[in-house]
Amino acid sequence: MKIVLIMPKGNTYSFNNRSVFFKYMPDSLTMGVLVAIIQKNFPDIEVEFYDETVEKIEKEKISADLIGISSMTPTINKAIAYSAYFRSKGIPVFVGGVHPTLCPESCDKYFDSVISGLANESLVTLIRDFQNGCMQKIYYQSDNMSFENFVCPKRDIYENKHFLGTELNMVQATFGCSNVCEFCVQPYVACGYHQRPVDDVIEEIKQIRDDYIEFVDPNLAKDENYLMSLCEKLKPLKKNWFAPMTISISKNDELLLALKKSGCEGVLIGFESVSSDSIASIKKGFNKVENYKNAIKKLHDYDIKVTGSFVLGLDGDDEFLVEKTLNFINEAHIDYVRFTINTPYPGTQYYKLMKDSNRIIEDNFSLYDCQNCVIKPLNLSADSVEKMHKELWRRSYSFMNIFKRLSYIKPLNKRIKEIIKNYVFGKVYIKMLFKSKNFISKIDI
Ligand code: SF4
Repeated sequence: MKIVLIMPKGNTYSFNNRSVFFKYMPDSLTMGVLVAIIQKNFPDIEVEFYDETVEKIEKEKISADLIGISSMTPTINKAIAYSAYFRSKGIPVFVGGVHPTLCPESCDKYFDSVISGLANESLVTLIRDFQNGCMQKIYYQSDNMSFENFVCPKRDIYENKHFLGTELNMVQATFGCSNVCEFCVQPYVACGYHQRPVDDVIEEIKQIRDDYIEFVDPNLAKDENYLMSLCEKLKPLKKNWFAPMTISISKNDELLLALKKSGCEGVLIGFESVSSDSIASIKKGFNKVENYKNAIKKLHDYDIKVTGSFVLGLDGDDEFLVEKTLNFINEAHIDYVRFTINTPYPGTQYYKLMKDSNRIIEDNFSLYDCQNCVIKPLNLSADSVEKMHKELWRRSYSFMNIFKRLSYIKPLNKRIKEIIKNYVFGKVYIKMLFKSKNFISKIDI
């Protein structure tokens, strides 16, 4: 039996052309995890995968007994198109991923089967059912799914794909988030908040050859005791690492010291906005705008870099947002910045709220990629939010603003090195995000 897995690409976060100048690393662990689950439980099944975020898919050349597609909301239209193609050839297709997790019932007419939630157990059941001729319509993540001995992603799967980046250096220790920030999808995607045993995570990291690890947890600092024990066990491995956390870590000096000693080089913090009204509108109450600068200074005191993430199009935003945000990031010396547009995802309470208030202005899910404004903002037009988004990316990564942001770094030679890295990061991201910002009306597969 042969299973083929497909990850369709969306409008952003994917490269159209191969280049010898950039490493091609996939955006997620998903393919590595799915391949590992199948190989561990079904050693006799042949498994092949195609990750369209880094390679072209020649669907006509694919032969399989069963096709699995992983999809997020912005790629669901493409997933549906692939499904229609393979089903027309008589090959059954199942789908999983964030979008099918959030709204499995809306997917079931386009696919033979749907996995809602993490696939670790459901995928095994689905394949067994398929072999026994009784594949069900929807498989839900069980409430008591174990996070011990979690399958480790197969990291070498890209080795034969002729890409420069051949090993996944991403790791996930915790899943989901139990905070209730209204605009965020993370509380939904793993059916709650879950931790893997620290020792399991450490064993996995020991297998990674790269000296640099990137945690892809939504919020690695959700449980500070857990993070502390992870730091203690990371220290002897002498790896450098990066992870998303919340600003709350800045209050805990003991933890900051442990982070630094364990090799933490940088953190991604969701500041979301410099407007207190906007923060209040998304119910992220622990983000206090007045504390941001001190929190960043504290992280810098421990030599931890800060990547700040900001969301545009929130209900407290006004026409002064660009200048206020730029001034803030320069004065606060945020090392790297990222900007996205507020996007309510189908299947969440926030989407329902927007729908019930008649604020959804775009039904094409291909545009739900946080780079397009799909709702009517309260105080601005959707067009102006999209313009602000572009403007903030471009101006933040202008040479002058990078220079201002990083003026805190000493000595000078270290600062120059960081300025160059920052400039290149900005150029690559801006090219990737805005290369094809045209309305996707046609889904080519
Ligand atoms: S924004 Fe961050 S802290 Fe809030 S729910 Fe999402 S992951 Fe958790």
